[in-house]
Amino acid sequence: MPLKPILLLMNETLRLDDHMALVSACESGAPVIPLFILDDAGAGDWKLGGARRWWLRESLKRLEKSLQAKGSRLILRSGNTAEMVSGLLGDVSAVYMTRSYSPIGRRVQEEIHQQCTVHDVDCRRFAGNLLLEPEDVRTKTGGIYEVFSPFWRRALELIDGSPPLGAPDRIPAPDAWPESDDLDDLKLDPKPAHWAEPIAATWVPGEDAAHDMLAKFLAEAARDYKAKRDVPGVEATSRLSPYLANGEISPRRIWAETQLHVMTNEQDRTGGDWFLRELGWREFSTHLLFNNPTLPVRPLKAQFEDFPWREGMDDKVEAWQQGRTGFPIVDAGMRQLWQTGWMHNRVRMIVASFLVKDMLWHWRTGEDWFWDTLVDADLANNAASWQWVAGCGADAAPYFRIFNPITQGEKFDPEGDYIRTYVPELSDLPNDYIHKPFEAPAGVLKMAGISLGETYPKPILDRKACRERALAALASIKKAA
Ligand SMILES: Cc1cc2nc3c(=O)[nH]c(=O)nc-3n(C[C@H](O)[C@H](O)[C@H](O)COP(=O)(O)OP(=O)(O)OC[C@H]3O[C@@H](n4cnc5c(N)ncnc54)[C@H](O)[C@@H]3O)c2cc1C
Repeated sequence: MPLKPILLLMNETLRLDDHMALVSACESGAPVIPLFILDDAGAGDWKLGGARRWWLRESLKRLEKSLQAKGSRLILRSGNTAEMVSGLLGDVSAVYMTRSYSPIGRRVQEEIHQQCTVHDVDCRRFAGNLLLEPEDVRTKTGGIYEVFSPFWRRALELIDGSPPLGAPDRIPAPDAWPESDDLDDLKLDPKPAHWAEPIAATWVPGEDAAHDMLAKFLAEAARDYKAKRDVPGVEATSRLSPYLANGEISPRRIWAETQLHVMTNEQDRTGGDWFLRELGWREFSTHLLFNNPTLPVRPLKAQFEDFPWREGMDDKVEAWQQGRTGFPIVDAGMRQLWQTGWMHNRVRMIVASFLVKDMLWHWRTGEDWFWDTLVDADLANNAASWQWVAGCGADAAPYFRIFNPITQGEKFDPEGDYIRTYVPELSDLPNDYIHKPFEAPAGVLKMAGISLGETYPKPILDRKACRERALAALASIKKAA
């Protein structure tokens, strides 16, 4: 009797390298049916945003090719995930998948598990997208870490550095394949189509590109990572975030390659350690989401439930989204996001602080915009980071510490390189005024070809008054508490 195939749900893990569920399925000797299901309705408010949809389409194309090279295929479906899987259970012996940590992903995987039990089909969830499972990193008393440094100290004790698994040489194919949708049926094309053109010019999705990016980072940027990671005008960080968000590279692979690199390049060790520490923030955010499923919608600090955030849309929020606030570093960041689907971490903090503190807008408005426009949009990292900036999250920046976009710009982009890339209409301003064109004398503006309010916006707000308003808002919840 030929073995019945194993259904391999690839939703969380668009890669062949270090894919435990895939390797285990291949080792069983049974044929394997790789399956990807797009479940927009099931994702509710967290349906993939525009930038992630563009990325996913490109990634699925490449995954299909990699699978074909191993003698396999990728079956595509769209619809309710648990129902789709359930409809295939009569023809398979098992369902394997990589574990999800998001509230929706966990619920769907639990539904699949229950369906498998009903149909007497083996169901296995494998680790794969974290260095450590959330249940394994606990305080001495079994509690959950709410502060990053002790979390990471404990994590470093636990990470065993076990080597990542390579991709299988061949993936056994079944005698008959289930029906597959076409990629076009998944409706992943951006609207309007030209919106994604600059994003497509910036990125190459897929796992091969992820490995190239890691190798390039280690060879060229790891050494100076600690010193330069906050400078947005240079390519000093790995830009691996979209590949991690799409499961195209495993954190274990990144860990192993970085350790190997610093063993032979001792001078890169400090940079390498700082880089891995950032990967630690990703672990921390995911553990936070796992332990607090309402993280994307509710503040972790309960007193912030009553904070007088402003909500909805108005022309100031539109100016923020479009990079027309009149504050160059904020505008450069928001335009980098729109044009490339990514923004430098330092600038993410600056634009987020501007929205939640200077504008007093709800952090969820920013979280939603980032969700739609980031190629690395990640439920845990996005929610935890917005809450961190807003002062209502775990280990958060205190609310009263309000970033000044001018001094931040002067400190981290002193020559104005970043501003000149994304706000070209300010290119001819001297460095002294590049972060504050509204303070430039009329003659300087004229020489630079700038007419405030026409070629570049006047500031949309008075920062001094806004700072006082923000601190008064904070005081109002302190009084209530
Ligand atoms: C308001 C706000 C929203 C954010 N939203 C997201 C998001 O949706 N998705 C996302 O992946 N990151 C998010 N971040 C975190 C961070 O900005 C990005 O992970 C980082 O800029 C990615 O660039 P990189 O890959 O070059 O990072 P590197 O500096 O090369 O770091 C390596 C990896 O570590 C992880 N990492 C780095 N910094 C952080 C951080 N502060 N928190 C959590 N993980 C981190 C990422 O996976 C990153 O790819 C957000 C930060 C802020 C302030």
